[in-house]
Amino acid sequence: MDISLSPAEQQFREEVRTFLAENLTEDLRKAGRLMTSVFADYEAAMAWQKILHEKKGWAAPHWPKKFGGTDWTVMQHYIYGEECAKAEAPNLLPMGLQMLGPLLCGKGTAEQQQQLLPRILTGEDFWCQGYSEPGSGSDLASLACKAESDGDHFVINGSKIWTTYAHFSNKMFCLVRTDNTGKPQQGITFLLLDMKTPGITVDPIISFTGEHEQNQVFFENVRVPKSGIVGKENDGWTVAKYLLEFERGGNAYGPRMRVAIDKVKRIASRESGSLGGRLIDEPAFRNKLAAAEIELLAVEFSEHRVMAALTHGQNPGAAASMLKIRGTEMSQKITELAVEALGWHALPFQEEALDPRGKPEYLVGHEDGVPVASHYFNTRAASIYGGSNEIQRNIIAKMVLGL
Ligand SMILES: Cc1cc2nc3c(=O)[nH]c(=O)nc-3n(C[C@H](O)[C@H](O)[C@H](O)COP(=O)(O)OP(=O)(O)OC[C@H]3O[C@@H](n4cnc5c(N)ncnc54)[C@H](O)[C@@H]3O)c2cc1C
Repeated sequence: MDISLSPAEQQFREEVRTFLAENLTEDLRKAGRLMTSVFADYEAAMAWQKILHEKKGWAAPHWPKKFGGTDWTVMQHYIYGEECAKAEAPNLLPMGLQMLGPLLCGKGTAEQQQQLLPRILTGEDFWCQGYSEPGSGSDLASLACKAESDGDHFVINGSKIWTTYAHFSNKMFCLVRTDNTGKPQQGITFLLLDMKTPGITVDPIISFTGEHEQNQVFFENVRVPKSGIVGKENDGWTVAKYLLEFERGGNAYGPRMRVAIDKVKRIASRESGSLGGRLIDEPAFRNKLAAAEIELLAVEFSEHRVMAALTHGQNPGAAASMLKIRGTEMSQKITELAVEALGWHALPFQEEALDPRGKPEYLVGHEDGVPVASHYFNTRAASIYGGSNEIQRNIIAKMVLGL
């Protein structure tokens, strides 16, 4: 594994740094700093995507160049992710750019590619992911949202749940049940639909920190043209598995966590400990911080190892599952340390201050403490979404231990 940077890679880092310094406005950085989950504020994320797309063609650098991506190496992608994290850029929203886009590049028809990919890049279409249902999450193959054939249309009845940002979306990619005979994995179809179609209702799910990210979506006799099928009818399971590779492979945990741990250090240097001095000087807290930094180093090296494998055309296999587990557990641990460092300053819920466009009259504590508690709570979900960590452990048990 060689992780030293070549002169060309160092030059690329400079190019990214300069671009970020010149284009990432203070408003956008603020939205990045206030992120309480992997999903940034919708308006800020879309504004940043527009700048990246129009000025550099960097909205979806991981897409093939012919569809509007770049031909960056795996190391360039990592450098880019690292610089964005350091510059506090808001995350781009992944459903179209990270999930559906690569799927269409690989499995869409020429017509779907021509019509849909440019609109993802420009932000004209904003997609949500309709997979999970009440009763079908980890066991996704049991999904029951029914699509009955009616000529060149399907008629959909049922419900999808936990649909992130469906309330902002004009489009949905989803899995629907088109056949009930055979194994549960058979008879599922991957379908694209317009969220404005009559019969669709989006109900908010508000988290206990008051945030609105997820929704439940209801379908009542919704007519969707069959031209929205990706792949073949009843073969949606194969399509969904292909997409999952991008969903799980697209996370670079290291750079964001390094920024987060630096923030913990900043907070602990400011806050007083129980021994009368600064918290950062107290041995018990220093031990916890050091342990977290060592674990973070291990995650970073694992990430580099996966990258090295990808660069040489190898499939990282179960290592992607291992990274998902360790990456999300570490993220959770760092948010716990941040809450501990902040102490009672983590208690006030400052709704106005959490909104990137909010104008709070006053702040309790320092500005960087505002998102800490909400971030802590929201990060509990990281070990559930994107394939729960228990499911990832099952994958490792099968692929590595042969159980
Ligand atoms: C913040 C957030 C955002 C989400 N966004 C979306 C979205 O945009 N679109 C979408 O379609 N879905 C989304 N989801 C849903 C997510 O994919 C599911 O929550 C996830 O797949 C788990 O399913 P479940 O909630 O039904 O839990 P269950 O599958 O019921 O699992 C409950 C518990 O049992 C464990 N478990 C289940 N099966 C096994 C097993 N075989 N072995 C060992 N343990 C097991 C699980 O790990 C978990 O701890 C989101 C979820 C969250 C929390």
